[in-house]
Amino acid sequence: MVNVTSPREITQLLSENNLSPLKKFGQNFLCDENIVGKIAGGIGLAESDYVLEIGTGLGALTRALSVRAKKVVSVEIDTGLLALHSKTLSGFSNVTVIEGDILKCDLQEICRTYFGGRPFHVCGNLPYYITSKILMMLLESEAPILSITAMVQKEVAQRLCAQPGDTDYSSLTASCLYYGRPEILFEVSRNCFYPAPDVDSAILRFSLDEPLCDVPREKYVKIVRAAFSMRRKTLLNNLKSLGSADSVITILKNCNIDPKTRAQSLTPVQFCSLAKEFFQK
Ligand code: SAM
Repeated sequence: MVNVTSPREITQLLSENNLSPLKKFGQNFLCDENIVGKIAGGIGLAESDYVLEIGTGLGALTRALSVRAKKVVSVEIDTGLLALHSKTLSGFSNVTVIEGDILKCDLQEICRTYFGGRPFHVCGNLPYYITSKILMMLLESEAPILSITAMVQKEVAQRLCAQPGDTDYSSLTASCLYYGRPEILFEVSRNCFYPAPDVDSAILRFSLDEPLCDVPREKYVKIVRAAFSMRRKTLLNNLKSLGSADSVITILKNCNIDPKTRAQSLTPVQFCSLAKEFFQK
């Protein structure tokens, strides 16, 4: 069986099949068995759990998930790599690899077809060129996702875990906090990949709890986006896109928020209160 965390064996396998790592698909293969184990172990899987993996690659993480879960479905876009799975994933009988673009997959359909509609965990060493799109797609999918454990660029992880008041706290951070709690499990050096990317990485874990509040997501996100539309402007100035100055001042007063505050200092709970005042009265 090929050692898919050995750069030498990866290079050999790819070149024997006239392939090489494709930059356009963000192909940086994880080459550290210890890190692979820490990621799969970090999910806290039980033997009865179902996992959706994003980006099979050669199957390094897929194998580690396979021995810990009941079933693993892994989505891979690159047909070249799919042809190698008979060599790298044979014998892992609870693994199904689906050829496709994760951004075009219907997660509810995958859940019904492969997991019998049961809740599942998501894991992946994500292709960096579409990390934010994948995270938002997962969060907005309404599929029964229990948690997301993902390798992302270190700066993206830091931005997603930023607290109100931090310079990294952004519209993306506040939007994601509607769904659950992100945390950085550990950092991963660029030297753990073949080929090495230009950036370091971190393992981000998202526990998906009940939504933060009973305000529908679209309304919460509408407030967040309007509030952050011009970072240097005050809340009053940014929220005027949603109503007259007088009505915005009244709403901010009702929520005990100073009109001169900036969006970066607002907590997710305060965004919920604003969304309620704007849209649910
Ligand atoms: N899981 C492997 C590992 O840890 O070594 C590969 C990780 S590599 C960073 C990202 C993988 O995602 C590549 O195999 C790439 O071809 C695949 N990929 C890129 N874009 C994708 C997409 N839109 N949908 C599904 N897979 C994609």
